[in-house]
Amino acid sequence: MDTNISMLSTLFLALLFSLHSTDAAPEWGYKGDSVVAEDWATVHANCGGESQSPINIDTYYAKEMEFDAWKFTNYDVLVDNETSIMNNGHTIQVNPGTYTAGSTTISGGGLPSVYSFLQLHFHWAETNDAGSEHTRNGNAYPVEMHLVHWDSGNYAIPPLAVTSAKGLAVLGVWFEVGEENPAFDSMLDAISETNVMYKTPNLGSYVFPESALFSLGDLLPADTTKFYRYDGSLTTPNCYESVVWTVFSDPIQMSEEQIEKFRATFQNEPEPNPIPENYTAPEELPIGLNYRPVQDLGDRTVYKGFATLSAPESTVPSTTAGATSRHFDTYTVFLLSIVHYIFWLSEDMYKFPYSP
Ligand SMILES: [Zn+2]
Repeated sequence: MDTNISMLSTLFLALLFSLHSTDAAPEWGYKGDSVVAEDWATVHANCGGESQSPINIDTYYAKEMEFDAWKFTNYDVLVDNETSIMNNGHTIQVNPGTYTAGSTTISGGGLPSVYSFLQLHFHWAETNDAGSEHTRNGNAYPVEMHLVHWDSGNYAIPPLAVTSAKGLAVLGVWFEVGEENPAFDSMLDAISETNVMYKTPNLGSYVFPESALFSLGDLLPADTTKFYRYDGSLTTPNCYESVVWTVFSDPIQMSEEQIEKFRATFQNEPEPNPIPENYTAPEELPIGLNYRPVQDLGDRTVYKGFATLSAPESTVPSTTAGATSRHFDTYTVFLLSIVHYIFWLSEDMYKFPYSP
């Protein structure tokens, strides 16, 4: 069953990719000719909503709240050996080999369900005074990492969670300039590969060699008990307001030299090899910056959380497995047929449009 759900999820993600590629809306982006962040709402109505992300976290007004302890499952083991890294033209993103529900999960920490790891990616800018999406008391960090998880306790496949309230749980980690951080070496080494430094051509993701696998737990701050919590959105179109946000209070360190590797990436694809006759090289377009400016908090509350209460007996409702199976069985036949069809039509399946 896990394998089937995994396959279905992967195919359904392909459906999302392909739906996006047939979308006639102008390409969104952060600068230049694209529809820039200030104008996203003119093309994607959700981006003008009242619970958008990121936000500035004003620590004076954040409400202190004690939550149950985090439960990180399989965060201490190596990611699966098909884990890959890609450049989607907007960010550098790491994808697990499979989207199997329940394999690598987070729960507790005040989250309302069990969330399974979906992907991780980064936001940055050209200089150190900007780059993070969330800011604290008006101050930005040079890089922010997002570990995206979907509510596998309530939804059979990720796309159903992406559009649902609290369907996603994202862990945000700020980076400050400091010591070299070896936990990111394998990712940063991969960025030097042409197909990651430049926008990854279709089917061209870079699969980590066995020796370069890492564990997600090593990417988090040493102290995960202190964090900020609020309800918000994806920070890229379509800006669905489906994210339970956690931004850890402690930043982690990364050297200037390491951060520079993010800045040496491009929106355009690499030259094909071999170069066809009459080939005109595209303009070199650095990604440069890829953070959305902070959005109005509105009437939302930001909590200053402490995940220190003892965890409940079971954070997974006993009906979860059954509910998941029922969802899965209901959708299977229908989805497999249409997904197969659209998968065939897709020419641009690596444009995953839904990234917090
Ligand atoms: Zn993000």
